[in-house]
Amino acid sequence: MQQLTILKLGGSAITDKARECTPDIPTIQSVADQLRGYDLPLILIHGGGSYAHPFVAESGLGKGLRNRSQLRFISETEFYLGQLTRIICASLLLRGKLPVPFHPMSFVTFDNGKVKRIMLDPIRKALQSRLAPLLHGDLVFDESQGIGVLSGDRIASLVGLRLGASRVLLGSDVDGVYSRNPKTFPGATLIAEVTPGNFRSVLRASRGPSGDATGGMGEKVRQALQLAKNGCECYIFNLKEKNALRKILEGNRITGTRFVPWTSSRRSLRQSRRKA
Ligand code: ADP
Repeated sequence: MQQLTILKLGGSAITDKARECTPDIPTIQSVADQLRGYDLPLILIHGGGSYAHPFVAESGLGKGLRNRSQLRFISETEFYLGQLTRIICASLLLRGKLPVPFHPMSFVTFDNGKVKRIMLDPIRKALQSRLAPLLHGDLVFDESQGIGVLSGDRIASLVGLRLGASRVLLGSDVDGVYSRNPKTFPGATLIAEVTPGNFRSVLRASRGPSGDATGGMGEKVRQALQLAKNGCECYIFNLKEKNALRKILEGNRITGTRFVPWTSSRRSLRQSRRKA
């Protein structure tokens, strides 16, 4: 397959995280506009943002399924995530793009928080047909804990490694990884490049407290490192920055954090595909 790109639309960029189930329509439309002329294989993944985090946090589903009162939250989370998927699909369809939704709950299972089974054949087929698979962070059934949370960032690295993506782009509401959370520390500095030499300090910088059910910037950095260590280029960039997505898709430099591939060896990619 020609160069495969995975693009994650962060929940903080495409929803208003302060208000339950509120989409950021201008950002979604701007993303769809910038994708209009892009014709190479592409998998889209959207985060849950305010369509999922409030329900997961309130129900405690992040720690597994412990009582029947949590079941309603599973249904509701799936319902609202489906609504966000449809909003994104509508924006893309209106601009001539051809998304097809895939819900990870239907093709991934966990055991003790680790992937037990994953079925990617339909996604491969969709790509071969030149459709754009649209996935999202999701709840997934877990053999020992009942239910688990599969973050959008984790599914981006999982699918990226299994399908041999050449790059994974993680779009968020900040320019990249900073020395500290830029929203609470305005003097924080942007880290332009992550390499084997500085990755430990970048991990520490991103580990700050997060109100998110899926681990915030720390999870993003962990998944980006997993990709880079296995030879896949990864960027964290600002999806709300005008034209940043178009530029990065065209291979142009933008402001952001680039995770330099540690090795481009195909062998390493094959090994990680088996492990992921
Ligand atoms: P998304 O929903 O887009 O996947 P998250 O909300 O999970 O993104 O994570 C992005 C947020 O992480 C930013 O809005 C920022 O407030 C926070 N953050 C915490 N520490 C850092 C850091 N060191 N650099 C950049 N952002 C950080």
